Amino acid sequence: MTDIYGLTPAKLAEKLKELGEKPSRAGIILPAVYGELLTDLTALPLKKETIEKLSGNFFSGELECVKKLVSDSADKYLFRLSDGDLIESVLMKHEFGHNVCVSTQVGCNMGCRFCASGKLRKVRDLTVSEMVGQIMYIRRDTGTRINGLSIMGIGEPLENLANVLDLIEIAQYPKGLDIGVKHITLSTCGIVPKIYELADSSSPVNLAVSLHAPNDGLRRTIMPTANRYSIAEIIKAASCYSEKNNRRITFEYVMLDGVNDSDECASELAALLSPLNCYVNIIRYNPSDGSEFRCSPHERIMGFYDILKKNGIGVTMRRELGASVNAACGQLRAGTAASHK
Ligand code: SAH
Repeated sequence: MTDIYGLTPAKLAEKLKELGEKPSRAGIILPAVYGELLTDLTALPLKKETIEKLSGNFFSGELECVKKLVSDSADKYLFRLSDGDLIESVLMKHEFGHNVCVSTQVGCNMGCRFCASGKLRKVRDLTVSEMVGQIMYIRRDTGTRINGLSIMGIGEPLENLANVLDLIEIAQYPKGLDIGVKHITLSTCGIVPKIYELADSSSPVNLAVSLHAPNDGLRRTIMPTANRYSIAEIIKAASCYSEKNNRRITFEYVMLDGVNDSDECASELAALLSPLNCYVNIIRYNPSDGSEFRCSPHERIMGFYDILKKNGIGVTMRRELGASVNAACGQLRAGTAASHK
């Protein structure tokens, strides 16, 4: 049996051919599965023999939701995978539509010191179906269209790039989820060779880079990947991405009290980024239990923001989605996994 959520349109067509079916049937199956949310393939508008063959060969790998936390701005879902591993996803409810934040790995190996996900080491990459399944569960649960996709849940998406590219292709399918590529954002801690690979792919999603420091010395103290790739290399790769795809790059900057939030850091960041087609997304730090870091006070964040603005850098501030249900950024899974062990 093949999991249909794991197949891009081209791979489904290929599979149908192998089964002696017309590849063009993909054009009937995919709108039914992703557009009409069909899980029972016997309800497809096709001949009996075809339906028997299809339902005998395909299934849709639905995820099991074990916990859901609801708040005004964001709902958090905890899923148990078929091997028992836990992952989480967030539905962000913006005025302009619904956005799903998907996880790409079970745990994460990047080891950022401020991040709850890094505390639980990576177990494995998620399959395409497990990523698509997160969106499909939430799509069904809310009953509304999903307008945007943030590939910035647990895990480092560029470490699972082949599967993530398939996810992006499936999410874009016009008669399916129909999430436009301009509404898909991928966030990375800066795996340089993979940024070039993404730039060469046919999926020009928005690229967000977790910078969090204006120089390598400081960055190394909070992000171990800074020992592998310098800021200069990351900026070169991100600029190449930006030029090739005509996209503005987002640099994420989490405000850590007394660590990376000084006026000097802001000026250094402004000087570093001013030649680029980019903007900075300032993120309020969401401390997890036992974290050695705190979020910068509001006045400090505003001071930092003002310096960037004065220097002509575009700045946005991420709302603390999910924080009111104490479930931002890997905390739900971290808490549950710990209490299950
Ligand atoms: N591995 C990818 C995507 C996952 S994290 C990356 O590093 O970009 C998504 C964003 O949330 C990253 O910018 C990450 O640094 C940030 N983040 C992690 N833990 C956080 C926390 N506790 N509070 C606020 N932001 C956090």
